[in-house]
Amino acid sequence: MPSDSSSPASLPLANLSMSSSPTVDTTNFSRGVLSDALEGVGHTPLVQLSTLAKDQGLACNLIAKVDFLSVGGSTKDRIAKAMVLQAEKDGVLIPGKSVVIEPTSGNTGIGLAMACTLRGYQCIITMPVKMSLEKEATLRSMGAEVIRTPNEKAWNEVGSHIEVAERLCAAIPHAVILNQYTNRQNPLAHYLTTWPEINYSIQTSDLPRKTVDVFFAGAGTGGTIMGVSRGMKEAQTGTDDAAWNSGDHGFVVGVDPVGSILAQNGEGDISGYEVEGIGYDFIPEVLNPISPQIHHWVKSTDAISFEYARKAHKLEGLLVGGSSGSALSSACVWLKDTRPFPLGGYERFGSKKDVNVVILLADGVRNYLSKEWFLQRSTWGKSDLATQIGEILGPRDGEKVEKALPSPPDSDAEKAV
Ligand code: PMP
Repeated sequence: MPSDSSSPASLPLANLSMSSSPTVDTTNFSRGVLSDALEGVGHTPLVQLSTLAKDQGLACNLIAKVDFLSVGGSTKDRIAKAMVLQAEKDGVLIPGKSVVIEPTSGNTGIGLAMACTLRGYQCIITMPVKMSLEKEATLRSMGAEVIRTPNEKAWNEVGSHIEVAERLCAAIPHAVILNQYTNRQNPLAHYLTTWPEINYSIQTSDLPRKTVDVFFAGAGTGGTIMGVSRGMKEAQTGTDDAAWNSGDHGFVVGVDPVGSILAQNGEGDISGYEVEGIGYDFIPEVLNPISPQIHHWVKSTDAISFEYARKAHKLEGLLVGGSSGSALSSACVWLKDTRPFPLGGYERFGSKKDVNVVILLADGVRNYLSKEWFLQRSTWGKSDLATQIGEILGPRDGEKVEKALPSPPDSDAEKAV
């Protein structure tokens, strides 16, 4: 547990006092020793994406909330921790006895597996086949059991990840589904941690404006967007609903993949897509897509999501996953769109210097290293430097490795990466 005593902003490099010892800036150091990994959940930084903003021709500040730096690797650590701790308080979970079962796209599962291993519960995760091998291996590595379910099963069909979890829960003694789709701790965790962290970082920044003007997040359960939005509304407009609804004191945009029906409040066509963790074929109870908490929705495609994930890697050195690419691409496309507001956000936000646009980066590419979309984009094409190296070294045995890598993507959007 970190001590409460105020920390000095700098320390001598050597513990022994030596008059010539250089000092180290400790401003962003972690205080004290955490009692376990759960204490390391959250506490993630805001990072300005200046190169991407320039690349996109945007005058506003693009600012990333880098939630893949949470200790379990995603924003969903926050809700897993909150759901487990609350269930313990409520007497729903009994250490050494309870079995936690959860249907998830993987990241909530990883957070739960971490919490379960630390607090003494067995853990079973049900997850559609499309979710990455990395997530399954990570879950198993922390001792969870993983059951894969067919992608094409509707949420309420026999064999879906939700139905299988319910069936297991009914049959296994002391089994509990904490249920991220209905659990109030889900949005609450973002209201109590994600938003306050964003607000604190903005307040203590050197930015001229100390408000969040626009917030972008992909929606799965909707917990992130509902929780952050509630905190943002209270901090920036208090109880003034009219001020909030105007969007002048904070504008919240939800990102939903084509093939999902969250943005259309449950209407429209359901189809498959590759990006993991966002979109659903039903409206989770914790999400109200038409509430004033979400001012606007945009739809995203796989191709542009992966293109912008790669841009984040290459231009900003931020190793984001696919849904972060969805949030980033949607933000950039919308902020560049000159159509009348709210169809486009250029005039009101994208063209304005000092406007702060915060984009939530939910997980990292280390969840997706084996996926074609990542391997293709990171290995095809030759840079000028690679050509120069080839001229210097000539043909090498190592080039055989290159031939084993996936071939380049062929869609036009992807070629533009
Ligand atoms: N991105 C990823 C990678 C996720 O795993 C999730 C959670 N399913 C989200 C975004 C969306 O978060 P939320 O469930 O809070 O809407």
